[in-house]
Amino acid sequence: MSELPLVTRFAPSPNGHLHLGHAFSAIIAHDIAKAAKGRFLLRIEDIDGPRSRPELADEYRRDLEWLGLEWDEVPAQSTRLDSYAEAARDLVERGFLYPCTCTRKEIAALPKRVGSDGVEYPGSCRDTCEGKAGEGAALRIDVVRALAEVGEVVWVDETIGSVVADPRALGDVVIVRKDLPASYNLAVTLDDAADGVSLVTRGEDLLETTHIHRILQELLKLPVPTWHHHELVLAEDGTKLAKRRGSPPIAERRKAGEDGLVLAEQVRLRNFELGS
Ligand code: GLU
Ligand code: ZN
Repeated sequence: MSELPLVTRFAPSPNGHLHLGHAFSAIIAHDIAKAAKGRFLLRIEDIDGPRSRPELADEYRRDLEWLGLEWDEVPAQSTRLDSYAEAARDLVERGFLYPCTCTRKEIAALPKRVGSDGVEYPGSCRDTCEGKAGEGAALRIDVVRALAEVGEVVWVDETIGSVVADPRALGDVVIVRKDLPASYNLAVTLDDAADGVSLVTRGEDLLETTHIHRILQELLKLPVPTWHHHELVLAEDGTKLAKRRGSPPIAERRKAGEDGLVLAEQVRLRNFELGS
């Protein structure tokens, strides 16, 4: 019996230039796939409203090529909205999602509370927002109901082992945004399944979201991958190399004539200058 080939991916959101943290993430996923004679996918996650700049996707491709990576590109998220809407409809019909019209500001103003059900949720609109579906409403998942439905499920991370899926710390997260038929959590879960991803490789900053992804897989009867949450490349002061914080873009180094293969090797050995 032959085992199915490993499929992993790099799934950047085109809302800023790629920096060394992205290079690290892409290289890890690429090298895992290569070592396993599997596939390395690139998926552009371009549904972040006005923050999405699809024109950056081309820059990303050039950056990755410059780093010596090879990949298969799968369709960008913006082409998959129908599949998100269909899954959301299914979850609504089965009573797992409820509308919420609270603004960020309103939620921030509410005291953080942990309910008797163990759900940390900074807003009690599970009851009060009821009936306000339609324009301008996001859809949140009723985590308690979802957990009651799926029971105890685990997810497995290559580095940390088996984890019981417990999304309560995130609260009733938004599954469908006001302005989109999905949120990151729904889109990424559906896409990884659609793309046949068997290993989800990404930074450990997204580890908490895996709990809800695992629950969504169960509710939507999707195949269950393994995860590999890798450590982050941090700036000297210990903060994340967020795109917005002005870490030197890969594209800048590429255009300055640096050798991408040398940089990729340094990233593999975690021996590189962060620059300023
Ligand atoms: N698109 C997400 C980001 O750039 C990552 C998605 C994932 O790897 O799960 O932060
Ligand atoms: Zn609400």
